[in-house]
Amino acid sequence: MRISVFGTGYVGTVVAVALAETGNDVMCVDTDEKRLTMLREGRLPFHEPGVLEYLQRNIREGRLTFTSSAEEGVRYGEVLFVAVGTPQGDDGLTDLGALKEVFRSIGRFANSRKVVAIKSTVPVGTAREMKKMLEEMRKDVEFSVVSNPEFMKEGAALADFTKPARVVIGTTDEYARQIMTELYEPFMRVSKRVFFCNNETAEMIKYASNAFLATKISFINEIANICERVGADVNQVRLAVGADPRIGAQFLFPGVGFGGSCLPKDLNSLIAQAKKAGYTPSLLDSVRSVNEKQWKWLVAKIEAHFKGNLKGLKSALWGLSFKPETDDIRESPALKIATALLEKGVKISAYDPVAIPNAKKVLGDSVEYGKGMYDVLEGADMLVVVTEWLEFRHPDFGRMHSLMRQPV
Ligand code: NAD
Repeated sequence: MRISVFGTGYVGTVVAVALAETGNDVMCVDTDEKRLTMLREGRLPFHEPGVLEYLQRNIREGRLTFTSSAEEGVRYGEVLFVAVGTPQGDDGLTDLGALKEVFRSIGRFANSRKVVAIKSTVPVGTAREMKKMLEEMRKDVEFSVVSNPEFMKEGAALADFTKPARVVIGTTDEYARQIMTELYEPFMRVSKRVFFCNNETAEMIKYASNAFLATKISFINEIANICERVGADVNQVRLAVGADPRIGAQFLFPGVGFGGSCLPKDLNSLIAQAKKAGYTPSLLDSVRSVNEKQWKWLVAKIEAHFKGNLKGLKSALWGLSFKPETDDIRESPALKIATALLEKGVKISAYDPVAIPNAKKVLGDSVEYGKGMYDVLEGADMLVVVTEWLEFRHPDFGRMHSLMRQPV
């Protein structure tokens, strides 16, 4: 099948290479020329395990092409995946600027029947609104708009896309349903969990899933905060609680709160959508407020330990990305903690296996960056560990002790 994918970010690139790998001809469309040049040359503009090999193989085989021309992209594909960014806009609502721009191009340039699959996370009602817009723009072309939310995790995106726990296909259009089923068929060997529903339900499934994951994280963080005050060990608590199959062990790790490009903005968007619809989502409001406070506890603990005298101290920082196996630093608690410590006069020397280039774009030269995890410990008064990269899990404590000024 001929497919165009709009947006070559984490999601669009993974969707494109995986669909090319299963024999489709895929054209990637983006407005960012620099990104397109890198991709054309077989280089990835971000860190995502396994994707590079698929990218290079499918370029070699002639199944992956790249363009910045929306017209070319719209004309090329029988199926058009839209995977552009949908960042947070005003009042927590979603900024649909990029998505609408793609839809306007589809309306302008469509030359034959198109199935448009929205992969971006969009507020409930968006697919219906976009379909109406296309129909108003063009009476001579038939369009199907499918809500096809994506559930991949950065760091394991390719595996999640090619062996999905579930696929949600939101459409009531039989033609689109058949095409989407055919496209996903190669990825359905392990599980055939495809959920067909209408656009609105599919859009809500994505928000409800992320809101639930966020709830689990804020839940265990709240339990951890209580544990600390009453003498219980939250690690033992989470293991025993998570052993109950009704609860499950995943996403029950206490820490500095969730970040990333999805959970915070999707939770905010769902809260804003609920309020706009006249409902106050008090549970979701609390999930957010626990998270907003969580990273601050760590800073407060550091201040308490040093009795408020932080000025002039040096802190090493391990981890900058919002979670391991990614270079994504959007909404990363590590950056918030670094900024708070800098404001208190702490000098910071940071290390992350892959996220330093992205972190530099935000923190600039306010922070020193080390080449290795032990490099940054030299003369440090404390080490703050924020991202659970595998390499930080069993460090050489003797070496750390000999390098640090204070072993905190
Ligand atoms: P991203 O910011 O990494 O990439 C978005 C890309 O879209 C950029 O390359 C940008 O240049 C491009 N773009 C912007 N306007 C464009 C236009 N008019 N035409 C073509 N390209 C355009 O975003 P992402 O992390 O891949 O997320 C994309 C969507 O998928 C978002 O809605 C996000 O919420 C959702 N999502 C993300 C993840 C994730 O783990 N990152 C998981 C599930 C869903």
